[in-house]
Formats: sequence, C-alpha cells, structure tokens
Amino acid sequence: MRTFIRSTVYHARIPRDERSFRMNAMEADNRGLLITCPKCGQRNRLKYEALRRTFHCGKCQTELHAPGVPVDVKSDLVFDALVSHSALPVLVDFWAPWCGPCKMVAPEVRKVANETAGHLLIAKVNTEEVPSLARRFRVTAIPTMALFKNGIEVARQAGAMPAPAIRKFIEQDLAVR
Ligand SMILES: [Zn+2]
Repeated sequence: MRTFIRSTVYHARIPRDERSFRMNAMEADNRGLLITCPKCGQRNRLKYEALRRTFHCGKCQTELHAPGVPVDVKSDLVFDALVSHSALPVLVDFWAPWCGPCKMVAPEVRKVANETAGHLLIAKVNTEEVPSLARRFRVTAIPTMALFKNGIEVARQAGAMPAPAIRKFIEQDLAVR
C-alpha cells in the first residue's frame, strides 16, 4: 500500500507534457529511439550517436529531447546498437515480470529517468523476453543495474535500490571515470 501511495506522488509531480509523452510507447531499433512527437504525432528517430543534440520534429519542427523515460530493449541487436553507439551513458535495468523487488524498483527507475533526461539513458531488459542478454552478461540476480559508457560496462550492482541510491550509484561512477 505504501508503494502505491508513493508511486502516485511521483505521477503527480510529473508535468503534464511528460505524462502524455510517457503514454506513447518508447521504442528503440538498431539505429535509434523512435519518438512520437507530442504535438503532431509524427514518428521521429533520434539516433543513438546524437542523443546529446537538440532535435526537431521532421513534420512540425517541435523541439524533441532524449527521453526522460526508460526505454524497453527487446533484442540483442537493439541492445548492442544502443549501448555501443549512445552518446549518453546507459543504465541497464535487468528485470523480470515475476520479480517482486523489480516491481518495487520500477517507479524508482522511472523517477531517475525523469531527473536525468538528456544526461543518461535508462534501458530496461526483461530477462524473460531476452534471456540471451542475461546469459551473455552473466546476470545471476535481479534486479541488477549495470552502467555502460562507450559500449563498456563500468559498474554493476544487484538488488533493489530506491531512487537516491540509484543516483548515487550512477554519479559515483561517472565522477570517477
Ligand atoms: Zn511534430
């Protein structure tokens, strides 16, 4: 019940634009993020290499940004493209639908994604859907968070963390390297 109340508070704090934006599916392919323009509905691709830059919608010129929401990664191909080409550090959240602690972490991860938009990309890997990735990265416990910079894993931590601990995990590592 406490979790429910807390997640409601997070929703209430998110600005209206961010909320409607979140309702659109954030998809990723092997070249970039597919973002639906909040103004005209046009689909735009934000290339991974250019995530630090300002984008404009191809149809209505509305300014588009790297997303403040986690991105679902659904294949090895997309994962490799995202992690190796992203201009932003990538925090990967390995999770599974049956995992209770993962469900507790989900709203915390969304909060961090919202706060770090434009500085960090958060990718969610459902280990049931893409078990090959969990095997390749030897993920033995979930939730596990792994931080990638320029295609290389630089830090990892297993176990549920609240948003401040996730932020600390990211910041410590980014400051050091
Ligand atoms: Zn548009």
